[in-house]
Amino acid sequence: MRIAVYPGSFDPITNGHLDIIKRASKLCDKLIVLVSNNISKKGMFTSSQKANLIIEAVKELSNVEVDCFEGLLVEYVKHNNINAIIRGLRAISDFEMEFQMALLNRKLYNDAETLFLMTSTEYSYLSSSMVKEVFYMEGSISKFVPKCVEIAMKQKIYKGEK
Ligand code: ADP
Repeated sequence: MRIAVYPGSFDPITNGHLDIIKRASKLCDKLIVLVSNNISKKGMFTSSQKANLIIEAVKELSNVEVDCFEGLLVEYVKHNNINAIIRGLRAISDFEMEFQMALLNRKLYNDAETLFLMTSTEYSYLSSSMVKEVFYMEGSISKFVPKCVEIAMKQKIYKGEK
């Protein structure tokens, strides 16, 4: 059984992430979307809120599971017999950081193999932070995120949480 993990902050999941998930899920028997908090990014949603939104967004993809993890990615990879780490690449700007992270992960655990999927052109501009910025400026985000995310973001504002 070939298992791949797609780790990220997913704060929140966007249609760009979803595109990577759909394509990656065809390359393995099981894909785990792993919510792992990036300590340098301030989040809008908690890990479990983010995981629940992903579960809703991927419910039609039968070989995709969602999990949360706070520790080192390579530890998760080691303990769950993961064959590949999936990351998405947008512009050149993603490359340096992704390259560094892939090499670091391999240094930490020699069997950690990272696979990069190139963004689809229609999502190349899309990031979670851009979605939040448009949302806070009261622009429409319906083209950028799954419906459940749009609803959850509106609820946060309504409840005065953000
Ligand atoms: P992180 O904080 O770990 O970078 P993100 O949620 O921002 O988490 O992104 C997770 C992964 O998805 C990263 O590899 C990122 O480059 C990729 N990604 C994000 N948005 C897109 C997109 N629109 N198209 C392709 N890949 C993307």
